[in-house]
Amino acid sequence: MSRFMSGRFERLKEYAPGEQPQDKRYIKLNTNESPFPPSPAVSAAVNERAVLDLRLYSDPRSAALKAALAGQFGVSSENVFVGNGSDEILSFAFMAFCEKGEKISYPEISYGFYPVFAELYELQKNELALRDDFSIDPKMYHGLDTMIVLANPNAPTGLCLSPEEIGKIASSNPDRVVVVDEAYVDFGAESVAALTKELDNLLVVQTFSKSRSLAGARLGFALGNKELISDLEKLKFSTNPYNVNRLSLAAGVAALNEQEYYDNNCKKIIATREYTSKELAKMGFWLTESRANFLFARHPGIDGQELYLTLKERGILVRHFSKPRLRDFVRITIGRQEDMERLVLTVKEILENA
Ligand SMILES: *Cc1c(COP(=O)(O)O)cnc(C)c1O
Repeated sequence: MSRFMSGRFERLKEYAPGEQPQDKRYIKLNTNESPFPPSPAVSAAVNERAVLDLRLYSDPRSAALKAALAGQFGVSSENVFVGNGSDEILSFAFMAFCEKGEKISYPEISYGFYPVFAELYELQKNELALRDDFSIDPKMYHGLDTMIVLANPNAPTGLCLSPEEIGKIASSNPDRVVVVDEAYVDFGAESVAALTKELDNLLVVQTFSKSRSLAGARLGFALGNKELISDLEKLKFSTNPYNVNRLSLAAGVAALNEQEYYDNNCKKIIATREYTSKELAKMGFWLTESRANFLFARHPGIDGQELYLTLKERGILVRHFSKPRLRDFVRITIGRQEDMERLVLTVKEILENA
């Protein structure tokens, strides 16, 4: 820290994103990106004309993208917020709906950005234990009377709560915002987007980064009661009115016009996930029942760090977390079928030599 940095950031530990190595081409199974390219309409929309228009600011109201999202989810544009990745939206939500010094509740094992935002906004971290099988006990979230953030499916376990369970959590905390981070919902979980029509404290956050193949475009959105949305708009217009750039807005609208392409990719990823999970189980791995585009797996014969490093040497990148309860595991993004066949073979070889 320089001598100029505010003392309030002294203890802030920044988020550590997964590696994006530039040294060589890996089979990249470490940051839950889609193995499939964006749909053809996206390439067509990000054309020379769009580049020439970059001299102009982007639409600060993101009207076209909001209208397309509103159509897809059967809500009105007033119920939609658009952000520079869903991380930005989560940041605005933490900023908007908590007082400094207040508690915010989320599972002890979840998306690594939640504790970072909690520290950034000087909130008290109320990290609730998971059950032994890594599932969330929804009753622990009833009547907490704090803001709550839940990733559903959760990361890095891939385990889900049902819409009924989330509905109960939200209705038992009527005076606080419940954020449901649905980054992975398209890989086999159920969205609670429709519940935002009944529950004015429920904010559903989704992203174009995973199922919609646009991680590099930085595009996320939130659905909720129009008052919650206008609170987020207020903070956005006080931070960065042009938060989403023109090319990403155009890409997002084009992607929504080809939903079938993305639905089909999700089906392929789900089938490949089931294949990979069976093959790993046959080799003696224990896995959570993931409904996301990744698997969370441990093997009694090799620790997570070692498996991660050995796979990396062999050109396959997965994610390892050093937190005590996660240390034995690796998180493996689901790639194309051929990538996962390669992973399975490589893991077999590694275990034979271990
Ligand atoms: C990937 C991810 C995000 C971030 O998505 P961006 O839209 O790329 O910022 C948010 N939450 C969870 C749980 C994620 O895994």
